[in-house]
Amino acid sequence: MVADCTTLWNDCLEVIRESVGEENYSTWFKPIVPVQVEGEVLTIQVPSQFFYEWLEDNYVPVLKKALQKVLGPNGRLEYSVVVDSGNTNTPPVTVHYPNGMGSRKAVNSLDSEYSPFTYKALNPQTVNSRLNPNYTFDNFVEGDCNRLARSAGLAVAKKPGVTSFNPLMLYGGVGVGKTHLVQAIGNEIRNNMPDKIVLYVDQNDFTTQFLNALQNHKLQDFQNFYLQVDLLILDDVQFLAGREKTQEMFFHIFNQLHQSGKQVIMTSDCPPRDMKGFQERLLSRFKWGLTADLQEPDFETKLAIIHRKMQADGITIPTEVAEYLAYSVDTNLRDMEGVLNSLIFHATLLKKEIDLDLAKEVLKNIIKEIQADVSVDFIQKTVSEYFKVDLDSMKGKVKKREIVIPRQVAMYFCKRYTQLTLALIGENFGGRDHSTVIHALESVEDMMKTDANFKSSVEELGKKLKLRMN
Ligand code: ADP
Ligand code: MG
Repeated sequence: MVADCTTLWNDCLEVIRESVGEENYSTWFKPIVPVQVEGEVLTIQVPSQFFYEWLEDNYVPVLKKALQKVLGPNGRLEYSVVVDSGNTNTPPVTVHYPNGMGSRKAVNSLDSEYSPFTYKALNPQTVNSRLNPNYTFDNFVEGDCNRLARSAGLAVAKKPGVTSFNPLMLYGGVGVGKTHLVQAIGNEIRNNMPDKIVLYVDQNDFTTQFLNALQNHKLQDFQNFYLQVDLLILDDVQFLAGREKTQEMFFHIFNQLHQSGKQVIMTSDCPPRDMKGFQERLLSRFKWGLTADLQEPDFETKLAIIHRKMQADGITIPTEVAEYLAYSVDTNLRDMEGVLNSLIFHATLLKKEIDLDLAKEVLKNIIKEIQADVSVDFIQKTVSEYFKVDLDSMKGKVKKREIVIPRQVAMYFCKRYTQLTLALIGENFGGRDHSTVIHALESVEDMMKTDANFKSSVEELGKKLKLRMN
């Protein structure tokens, strides 16, 4: 009879339980999951590296006893260690340790044995900074929306690691210029201080490198590399949420760099106080330096960005076209980038003149793509669910305030996220006329100015809708 791994492991547990006492048993053995048995080798999965080390440091005799009793004198144990519990986007990652029961010391000494040989001093001239040279301060347009962040960035670029802006934490929504700004800081430092080692990584690179290093037992190299950096830029740190091991490693690197006066810059989609899935000690570190936000650009700034970008490509764009675009593209600057690139394409390759008609045509195609998936129905449903009001009442004629406000918000999003005219939007809300819709848009904008709670509700809803669009 071939016993399955669960039965075998349960037999082992009986032996273990007798030897270690109830408390140790439930702390260290209950969480273990048997994975497979092959001949005389049983593989178990443990929740963390620490867990594995603890078992191997403290329970080898008892594990041996149990395995030999259950699997015979040559019974052996292998571990599958969960090194990153993953999050909603990624499954957990495990590392395999084939020689359980007493060989951990050997693995460790192997690590420290070869690490001195693999330690390489980085050369600032040749190290790949992963910076995009096109992102500079020169082509970053200053506006009310980004003034503080930009000034802080400039200060850091002049004296990395020396100002109190360490870490510098920049946050803001999609396409507000976070990546552009932090790369501009990196480029500035690289150009003016060629002996400094600058490194830009986004969260994804960092996590991937870290997990690779773990799996290949190259953690020491990984750390050595990061600890030599003078300016570390970590973009989109919010995606480290829930990744405990990666956070721990970053925490370690962060502390070391900070202590030795190196500069750390991070970006995130929200302020540290709102970041979920992070260890408290890490969040409190994020607040040590300066936290500055970037807001969606206002009309003037958008206009300036449009002109700057077109100029850089040697194209003149009539003022009325620029104004039209600045008004019309109100999703985010990345979409604006798409629209401008398309215009440049038409102007240079197809030799068309950039006028209002061309702009409208281009906009129509691009905005349709962006918004292909969002319909009035979807907006109405999402908004009514968000405010917990009845969908039909919201689309109908009810005049109660608690219904009127969600209705106005839904109209506001229909204007922002669909191609419908004001009249058609009114049509979708119980046959109202276009002036009612205009009034709704104005009330929503007024309320957003005066009521911060309302504003954040609308923004949150906007994010939900945008998620659907991407
Ligand atoms: P984020 O990282 O905040 O999502 P990005 O930095 O990727 O945003 O910006 C999106 C696009 O908008 C980029 O092409 C960037 O160059 C441009 N952009 C954003 N803000 C500015 C600005 N203030 N001046 C010039 N271009 C900007
Ligand atoms: Mg970015």
